[in-house]
Amino acid sequence: MGRPKGATKLVVEDSQALDLRDLVKAGVFRTSIGTPCDCTWKDATGFELLKINFYLEGDFGSGLFLRITGRTAEGGTLPQSIQLATLQRPYGGNKFLFLCPGKHGHSPCCQQVQKLYLIEERWLCRNCGNLTYLARRQHDSRKDRLLRDPSLLLAALRSDDPRQRFLGIGAFAQALARIQRYRH
Ligand SMILES: [Zn+2]
Repeated sequence: MGRPKGATKLVVEDSQALDLRDLVKAGVFRTSIGTPCDCTWKDATGFELLKINFYLEGDFGSGLFLRITGRTAEGGTLPQSIQLATLQRPYGGNKFLFLCPGKHGHSPCCQQVQKLYLIEERWLCRNCGNLTYLARRQHDSRKDRLLRDPSLLLAALRSDDPRQRFLGIGAFAQALARIQRYRH
């Protein structure tokens, strides 16, 4: 099997989620152990929200880890080592799952999950992060709606409801990022 040389780069749309399927698609598991990889999250306008650098550590036999190194200037993550569960597929090949490292490094929760979420600069499973997946999706679609209609956006920004204003500010920041991108 051919092995891609050099760094593996990956761009994902679903902000704040680290999805193992994306890593598999990007060929992370076909690189040699220790190959530097990076993963970038962009919003719908192409604005970079987050970037992490990582590499695979250990080996397929005794245990594989995703080692996330250092932090970037903005919206970075803390260094973290995330163990992977390797499951043999009946028809060959491996299936990978994250073993959630848990909120505190010394007491891993070890839930086997496909996705981890960025909570306070750490990657955690949905339970440890107290995340409601639906709430997050609804929040995003509401922001998109404001971006499509300036009068709705203005109404949100002027609203007495702090949640509406917060949503408006989020949409406004996204619109600003889009304008800045066009300028360059
Ligand atoms: Zn967990």
